[in-house]
Amino acid sequence: MTDTLKKYLFEDRQVKVQIAELRDTWRHAQSHVQYPPPVRKLLGELVAAATLLAGNLKLDGSLVLQMHGDGPISLLVVECRGDLSLRATVKLREDHELPEDGTLQSLLNTHGKGRFIVVLDPRDKLPGQTAYQGVVPLEGETVAEVLEHYMLASEQLDTRLWLAADDAKATGVLLQRLPGEGGHGTDTQLASNDLDAWDRACHLAGTLKAEELLSTDSDTIIRRLFWEESLLAFEPLPVRWHCPCSKQKVADMLRMLGAKEVESILEERGKVDVTCDFCGKPYSFDPVDCAELFLGDPLKPAEDGSGTPTLH
Ligand SMILES: [Zn+2]
Repeated sequence: MTDTLKKYLFEDRQVKVQIAELRDTWRHAQSHVQYPPPVRKLLGELVAAATLLAGNLKLDGSLVLQMHGDGPISLLVVECRGDLSLRATVKLREDHELPEDGTLQSLLNTHGKGRFIVVLDPRDKLPGQTAYQGVVPLEGETVAEVLEHYMLASEQLDTRLWLAADDAKATGVLLQRLPGEGGHGTDTQLASNDLDAWDRACHLAGTLKAEELLSTDSDTIIRRLFWEESLLAFEPLPVRWHCPCSKQKVADMLRMLGAKEVESILEERGKVDVTCDFCGKPYSFDPVDCAELFLGDPLKPAEDGSGTPTLH
């Protein structure tokens, strides 16, 4: 198992620790496109963060983290399902220059209009149920800080994240203070400690540097950080790349686009080519395929007739 999410609990159950280590999954995410290093770093950190947060939810469906930018990056998106299969992609603005030393703020929040959006989409929705969506400004210098702000504002949960990514690995550590009995020392044992478990855990993990996260395996990191603590370890969970795109889903998207729009693309190019933004898989619809799309409903109007075809 190369890609894993590992979970631990402090013995006094005040603090949850998780570590995600992704190599194959992350390699897949970059297999069809070469991202410039600053973009790759942000996307890799968001991939690690999505894995850590999805692993934290008892989710039958998907968690989607989106960073909408108003600068050189227009969108970073990661979709992680309850089984920890995920896909991710980036949309860049072609007319913007991408500085080598670009940061989250300079690449995504150039004019202060960047947004971080979290979508929780249950797989089997009840009638009338819609996906949960939380939107916050892009506050923070790093992906970790943006998420920490979000978790505190929306979930009222103390969460700390350390994230890192290079071309070979996307990785991160999550600490979360557990609600309930945690944090309230009632006996002398707790009172005798200088710091409670949460402060201790944050202090220990606070020494983590990106280089260490990237160059060290997850077991070693956990041992180095918490060797003085008693941790309960859970069974490691596998993480994998999976893009659920299909010709059927592209066909549905083209139907949404409407017969008129599809015909005009056909007239111009002789066929309709759509490439999956996430995995790069090409889908081609010749005139016969296109005619079949609208069989029986040839005049269905476009529900969203604007823009070029993109796949979600
Ligand atoms: Zn795909």
